[in-house]
Amino acid sequence: MTRHYNFCAGPAAMPTAVLERARDEMLDYRGHGLSVMEMSHRGEDFVAIAERAEADLRELLAIPDNYRVLFTQGGASLQFAALPYNLLGAGGRPNFLHTGIWSKKAIAEARHLAGDVHVAASSEENGHSAVPRQGEIVLSDDAAYLHYTANETIGGLEFDYIPEARRPDGTEVPLVCDMSSSLLSGPLDVSRFGVIYAGAQKNIGPAGLVVVIVREDLLDQARDDMPTLFGYRALSEAGSMINTPATYSWYLAGLVFDWLKTDVGGLSAMDAINRRKAARLYAAIDGSALYANPITLRNRSRMNVPFVLADPRLDRLFLDEAEAAGLLNLKGHRSVGGMRASLYNAVPEAAVEALIDFMADFEKRRG
Ligand code: PMP
Repeated sequence: MTRHYNFCAGPAAMPTAVLERARDEMLDYRGHGLSVMEMSHRGEDFVAIAERAEADLRELLAIPDNYRVLFTQGGASLQFAALPYNLLGAGGRPNFLHTGIWSKKAIAEARHLAGDVHVAASSEENGHSAVPRQGEIVLSDDAAYLHYTANETIGGLEFDYIPEARRPDGTEVPLVCDMSSSLLSGPLDVSRFGVIYAGAQKNIGPAGLVVVIVREDLLDQARDDMPTLFGYRALSEAGSMINTPATYSWYLAGLVFDWLKTDVGGLSAMDAINRRKAARLYAAIDGSALYANPITLRNRSRMNVPFVLADPRLDRLFLDEAEAAGLLNLKGHRSVGGMRASLYNAVPEAAVEALIDFMADFEKRRG
């Protein structure tokens, strides 16, 4: 058996230790005589798995008691629609920071329901190569909340600060953040946010699960016409089990949380590893004549590193040779082309070293 190095943007690499544990528990979960995926979601055994996962996530992120944690479905994309339903009960307009493809999709989805949204700042003018600074963010007088994307997975553009969400008159509105590709990459001050959400398939676990962390006072801001399954209050009161949850993904997420706590040693340790990985790869890109990354230094993503080759005719060869060398899924998103190396938590430092060595060798031979 060989496990290659996987740089996929999502579904992404899983920690090998987690997969081994899942394998060992696959047929007979800890002497219960059945697989986790065969358990009733309402049975004692699965409920214990679910509760443990939540407790570990709370511990990792130091989530304050006045926040609820939901394990729901529909991808991060469904949250694009669920958010305005949950937060626009008292009217007002959603406000957005537009920094790339994912925030644009969130804006489009909110428009369906809200009709009008306000873009409080955009990085369109610089080609999404630098995020707006705090002083450039201007909310509307009727802002209901401010939404932003902490890390644009496709563009490789990451916020280097947590924005403040204040209307021009100084009143604060909830800050809502899509953290699909950055949650759990390092420590986070959850108390700054009204809602945090993330699709699982990067740093949390397999696809099919979405984690939502929502401040309790926001559970009563929903519109009356909200579909039941979108509702944060209803989900929270049902322990995220209004209907059948994605039980196996939830269990695997729990194993990932346990791995982060026990094997890695928590999010500060994870953060240090992630920073080292990204710094090594960006240094290799910047030091070469063949590769380039367009993002301004302070906003370079630690998780997703896009790069182009000086001669795009070499792209195919680069990818083929990389794959032959056991370096998988380096192709950039179809909308932007080039390459992208995603360096999520489960991508080891050895993978980054192997990639850097391959890139240097390729440049020597073909550049
Ligand atoms: N937001 C971000 C930042 C993403 O990276 C993605 C998926 N790559 C999404 C939203 C959409 O996630 P999903 O496919 O789970 O709907």
